[in-house]
Amino acid sequence: MDESTQTEPTTDTPATPTAFGWCHWHQAHSDGVRLIDVIEQGTGSGITTYACQPCRDVHGLVPFADRP
Ligand SMILES: [Zn+2]
Repeated sequence: MDESTQTEPTTDTPATPTAFGWCHWHQAHSDGVRLIDVIEQGTGSGITTYACQPCRDVHGLVPFADRP
């Protein structure tokens, strides 16, 4: 997944790219979720965790793609 876009304040403008998906932090579907972490496992596929904007603000989460 390419996550190269800038993080904008949450709005309903169509130009803002958002992803609808499961937020692992508040345990519900939400708009604007972003990939936070990939937990590698020895076998099979890794575990991916996503968080919505409010949860990223509350928990200080940095999207996986935005890290140095
Ligand atoms: Zn959330």
